[in-house]
Amino acid sequence: MTMYSDSDLLPLSGLQHLIFCERQCALIHIEHIWSENIFTAEGRVLHEKAHEPGIERHKGLKIARELLLKSMKLGLSGKADIVEFHREGKNWRPFPVEYKHGKPKKNRCDEVQLCAQAMCLEEMLELDIPEGAIFYGKTRRRFPVKFDEPLRSLTIETAAAYHRLIESGITPPARYSKRCDACSLKFICQPKGTAHRSVARYLANIMNPKE
Ligand code: SF4
Repeated sequence: MTMYSDSDLLPLSGLQHLIFCERQCALIHIEHIWSENIFTAEGRVLHEKAHEPGIERHKGLKIARELLLKSMKLGLSGKADIVEFHREGKNWRPFPVEYKHGKPKKNRCDEVQLCAQAMCLEEMLELDIPEGAIFYGKTRRRFPVKFDEPLRSLTIETAAAYHRLIESGITPPARYSKRCDACSLKFICQPKGTAHRSVARYLANIMNPKE
């Protein structure tokens, strides 16, 4: 497996952007464009609630918030919303919990993000983390996530594809689909109007329309 250096590390949150849409990932992480919509605003409020930093202690349970994460194997860094530490005999077993607005999605972007967090923790703490959970704001329920081999492989492949995209420095063309309706960047991306063009060319055409 590739070992990255500190200067190669990419924001862990980009994994979910890449799975949602390569172009969205490039617009955010190459072109540094960000726009908030109702979905991201709900998510931000939920994250802020989960993100009051510190450590809580209960009997047999410690809860750490905003834990900094890093993996040189995946080339990622970021923060975990919550990492619970469950008492197991003399040891404490980490159990990452990610907070998301909405409900479980059809794709595996939330699971990949959580798995990447777990793999960061494994590398930092030198132990195995078999499972975690995702809490969805709409259902107000926790969904358990097992970090099995298929999910770990998908996470490694996604991280590698994310690095390739950022290294290329190229924003892929828009391809309109149903996901665009929930995309925070749809007004900037213009997926129907720029199906095979860059945002820069689209804006240039508005400024200098051809008669
Ligand atoms: S509007 Fe559609 S094509 Fe454009 S970034 Fe969003 S999801 Fe991707």
